[in-house]
Amino acid sequence: DLQSSNDRNAVNVQVVLRCRPLNEDEIKARTHLVVSCDELKREVTATQYMAYKQTDRTFVFDKVFGPASQQQELYDNVVAPVVNEVLEGYSWTIFAYGQTGTGKTYTMEGEGRKEKNGKLHENAGVIPRAVQQIFDVLENKGLNSLYDEPKRSLLLMEDGKGAVFVRGLEEEIVSTADEIYAILDRGTAKKHMAETLLNKQSNRSHSMFSITIQIKQHKSDGSELIKCGKLNLVDLAGSENILRSGARDERAREAGEINKSLLTLGRVINALAENSVHVPESKLTRLLRDSLGGKTKTCIIATVSPSVLSQEETLSTLDYAFRAK
Ligand code: ADP
Ligand code: MG
Repeated sequence: DLQSSNDRNAVNVQVVLRCRPLNEDEIKARTHLVVSCDELKREVTATQYMAYKQTDRTFVFDKVFGPASQQQELYDNVVAPVVNEVLEGYSWTIFAYGQTGTGKTYTMEGEGRKEKNGKLHENAGVIPRAVQQIFDVLENKGLNSLYDEPKRSLLLMEDGKGAVFVRGLEEEIVSTADEIYAILDRGTAKKHMAETLLNKQSNRSHSMFSITIQIKQHKSDGSELIKCGKLNLVDLAGSENILRSGARDERAREAGEINKSLLTLGRVINALAENSVHVPESKLTRLLRDSLGGKTKTCIIATVSPSVLSQEETLSTLDYAFRAK
């Protein structure tokens, strides 16, 4: 409708919230639910229990996906319009932000890519669905459009001193979805290897998958039009690392550094939202420099758990995501 399309053009930052369902252990333990989602009103209410007091806080987002939401629903409502814009030559960055175990990787990568019949697996996440959509659209355009797809898959990790370094940076030109999946598998294997070598888990590193699309069109007057779009898909380090800044041991110090780069990222997003010229930098944001800023639009998918056990972390994610607006 008119209202929402106007909004979309005016605002460069979109914030979406997704709450995962309770898992089997939580159901067995009869875990208390403290998050409720109203998808129509785009509202999330978190209840906080402290001693004898109970407080409700309600946050409004651009879109809200409750525990029953399916991968395809989130994709169709949030990512498909983004990919259409990328195919028109725009740049977009989509971040998954949230506590470890809340569904960042489930949302971005999902579980399973394709069924034997070639259809997407119902639990496939944003990355395989975006790859599929891009190739579907390009194939439909047929031979009249020539395309190159330089593809970059990189893993950002932070060492104990706060330096961000890139593992497995590679750029390849591909022409089929399967070639991208093969690169993704290699990227995942490298990431696991790097984590083993560094004795770290993935909740302490950021992963970024980036696709550049160039479409060359021959116009009837003989001139050429090149559209260049870019899609960055970022699975951030677990947000709980932000809170642990006790700096007593090395782990905590590392957490402090992750903290800094995530907070800087937040400020970058805020600055972009305010169209400010003062965009603060960290090493992570420097790596994202050509992605953040200018004409790049940003979407944050904040993920939370519905469980009482995560209530503090959930509130801090809701606060962070709400402030990014
Ligand atoms: P994170 O990457 O944020 O640490 P994961 O994506 O690994 O979290 O999710 C943790 C667990 O919860 C996984 O077993 C995943 O399958 C499950 N899960 C997360 N989100 C959902 C969801 N929306 N629906 C069903 N299961 C989910
Ligand atoms: Mg993960």
